[in-house]
Amino acid sequence: MTEHIEVAIVGAGFAGLGMAIALRRAGRQSFVILERAASVGGTWRDNTYPGVACDVPSHLYGFATHPNPEWSGLYATGAEIHRYLERVADTEDLGDRLRLRTALLAARWDAAASRWHLDTGSGALTADALVLACGRLTEPSIPEIPGLEGFTGPIFHSARWDHSADIAGSRVAVIGTGASAVQLLPRLAETAAHVTLFQRTPAWIVPRGERGYDAAERERFAAHPEELAALRAALYVEGEARYASRSGDAAASAGAREVALAHLANQVPDPALRAALSPDYVFGCKRVLLSDDFYPAVASPAVTLEPSALVAVDGDRLVAASGTRHTADALVLATGFVSQRQPYAELVTGERGQTLAEHWSGGMTSFASTVVSDFPNMFVLDGPNASLGHNSSVLMLEEQAAYTVRALAQRAATPGGVLRVHPDAEADYTAEIARAARTTPWLTGGCRNWYVDRGRLTLLWPGTVDAFRARLARADGSEFTTTPARTGGEDRRSA
Ligand code: NAP
Repeated sequence: MTEHIEVAIVGAGFAGLGMAIALRRAGRQSFVILERAASVGGTWRDNTYPGVACDVPSHLYGFATHPNPEWSGLYATGAEIHRYLERVADTEDLGDRLRLRTALLAARWDAAASRWHLDTGSGALTADALVLACGRLTEPSIPEIPGLEGFTGPIFHSARWDHSADIAGSRVAVIGTGASAVQLLPRLAETAAHVTLFQRTPAWIVPRGERGYDAAERERFAAHPEELAALRAALYVEGEARYASRSGDAAASAGAREVALAHLANQVPDPALRAALSPDYVFGCKRVLLSDDFYPAVASPAVTLEPSALVAVDGDRLVAASGTRHTADALVLATGFVSQRQPYAELVTGERGQTLAEHWSGGMTSFASTVVSDFPNMFVLDGPNASLGHNSSVLMLEEQAAYTVRALAQRAATPGGVLRVHPDAEADYTAEIARAARTTPWLTGGCRNWYVDRGRLTLLWPGTVDAFRARLARADGSEFTTTPARTGGEDRRSA
């Protein structure tokens, strides 16, 4: 007999755990979480590069339902966040609902039985509803560079750090200057013989203002949950205020730009190096980075900045677009992730026999950033237009989980019901996003960023978290047709 459950969640990172918490709070107990890895944590399990940390304040980068008075500082380290997620899974007592080392191999809508049929690495199961909480930055993007595979030393991606490679004392090349690179470069510069940093595009960088919480503060947070709640609320408001500078408000972005340029001037005395590190595109177009130690590391004798892309590799020689050649013993690819073509989309087949990847062949689309036509009873968290550049993404997935719970309640109101989102609702929502994004720096700011797919904003939500919450609140269920299951009734619960 094939096991049947109400909700199958795929992925046990922030999104999957957040979904499980929301289901629990709504009294829905029939769910499982499929996780291909051996532990929960998603991004924070997979990224173990030196210096890995979050650039969203710790007290906002957690579940509202699971405040953590123990955060060590204003910004948490990656390992600390991974431990937090493991603790959340324990506290929620997920038990055998958490199926670790269980990869989703294929999910197919079974029209005859009106349910999802899932093949996993540990057997098959069926589910009334499918929640894809697979993450959006999971698959390393490896640039196609001639000779890369023939590089003579250790070579790995920032999200697949090879801790067995002893690169201390080596000449290391780092490719990329995104959020991962600015965190790992200062740590590498402390231990490597030398670091060469390949920068294709400089980032806008503002001060991080790192600070630890001392024992007395942590004890106070533990003793006074209301103080912790007030801190979270204040950080939320601060985060929402940042939206203006990221989204092209003239005064706000001019102010933030000045802060970033003053930070650069304070930390990099050499005018030529400063010029090489100065972005020539609009503030906010790419993710704005927070760092207190990146510029000092780049300006130190431990690092050479190569202000152009890596274009070819010949043994241990690295050729830059500028024509300069550098020699390295080890190569770190901090080159980001495949975000526009999500691998999980290949695995999911909807009611017309089309995969989600085919449905999204022109770029990701959805209604409410969460549901997709032709994929009944399916919900995607952290997928189309659900990323943020100004505030905590945990807030977004909490809103998506709440929307999913509401939709599941609507489904439950029709025995064995099937929720189908109208194609028009998806088209209208997509047009709404396009209108909101049209004049923003993400599309017009003169940079390349991972939010955009062939001229359309497909990953970032073009608004505040407040606006997202309000938009989802306006979705009153009329976006769906709800029909009873074909086989209907009780017998479909005991396949
Ligand atoms: P990323 O922002 O996509 O950066 C990739 C970098 O690699 C870019 O600088 C890119 O240059 C560069 N690159 C690619 N091919 C290159 C080549 N051949 N030569 C030279 N440079 C090359 O990736 P990421 O830094 O891993 O960050 C991805 C996302 O993860 C972030 O935007 C953020 O959302 C998330 N993240 C968050 C945190 C956090 O603290 N919350 C930390 C790390 C990551 P171009 O800019 O020219 O494309």
